[in-house]
Amino acid sequence: MSEDFYDVLGVSSDASAEEIKQAYREKATEYHPDVSDDPDAEEKFKKIQKAKKVLTDEEKRQAYDRMGHDRYEQAEKHGFDASEGGMGGMGGDPFGGMGGGGMGGGGLGDIFEQVFGGGGGRGRRRPRKGRDLRTELEIDLEEAYEGAQKQFTVERPEECDTCEGEGHPPEADSETCPECQGRGQVTQVQQTPLGRVQQTTACPRCEGEGTLYSETCGDCRGEGYVRNEATLTVEVPAGIQEGQTLRMEREGAPSPEGGRRGDLLIDVSVREHEDFEREGDDLQYRLPISFPQATFGDTVEVPTLDGAVEFDVPTATQSGETFRLEGKGMPRLRGRGHGDLFVQVQVVTPESLNEEQREALEAFAEAGGDEIEVKEGFFEKIKRAF
Ligand SMILES: [Zn+2]
Ligand SMILES: [Zn+2]
Repeated sequence: MSEDFYDVLGVSSDASAEEIKQAYREKATEYHPDVSDDPDAEEKFKKIQKAKKVLTDEEKRQAYDRMGHDRYEQAEKHGFDASEGGMGGMGGDPFGGMGGGGMGGGGLGDIFEQVFGGGGGRGRRRPRKGRDLRTELEIDLEEAYEGAQKQFTVERPEECDTCEGEGHPPEADSETCPECQGRGQVTQVQQTPLGRVQQTTACPRCEGEGTLYSETCGDCRGEGYVRNEATLTVEVPAGIQEGQTLRMEREGAPSPEGGRRGDLLIDVSVREHEDFEREGDDLQYRLPISFPQATFGDTVEVPTLDGAVEFDVPTATQSGETFRLEGKGMPRLRGRGHGDLFVQVQVVTPESLNEEQREALEAFAEAGGDEIEVKEGFFEKIKRAF
């Protein structure tokens, strides 16, 4: 059995939530340790449960798709905050309630919490807010410099209009769930090395609702939600850096319990610029100049993100020398002023010379006492004569 969650459940990576649940039900029945005589049933059952838990959670599934199996597992082990970066505001566990307590250390207690999404207790607290969603946004360095209003589209779940989020047509017949007798919870007793453990979890048959319906809403396949594309505009602040995260409040998934929507987290990346390299709030620009310009000095134009400025190349400038143009770098995020622009001078050796230039350069070299062997009309090497 492959580790990949989609493979574990035997579904394709674009399977719908309903397909995933269906596949889970089949696999879970097949490998349930109480009924399966597969010697590895328990191990396989755990994997199936884990896969279902991640893939039926909109946000976890997005993260899993984005990060891939190994990175996701890593991140889950070490905490998503640390691995996914982001600036402030992300405090706490973005998924909420991961790695439930119980017996800790991956004991059987955990397993049941993992499968059925955190045991019981539904409806007793104030309505849970909807899940936070995550998306990515790429901007130009110019936009990071000026700040920008960026329009983008994001796929997110919206309450299904047809069934108003119920997951079944209003005229569907209902019956009390026989598995949990309508309580929405089931109690499992497990024999563990530490003794018998009783665990109350949401009923897997009715998914905690206590009721089964004769029909499923065709538009949302019983989910109560459909995926919609929303077009949003975000304010990107001047000075934003690669890898920082913006938060749009209440633009995430709707709450299944009528609470507030979750937030939308936007991971920003900044495209590389062909003229400037960015380091924090500073920029670096490579300025090509000729040997005579480096020798005699010159006034040249240097581009900045705020328009070109005049720059005085001092006499006797060496190739590689760097000059600082104060305040011509990136604006400091939420702060005052700008970083600097560092101009690194690069003396360019001509790739071809006309006759006159060649003679002049040869004369220059001779006048300095250099002995030059000229081959094919160009310098092969220069030896300094002492
Ligand atoms: Zn529906
Ligand atoms: Zn039930």
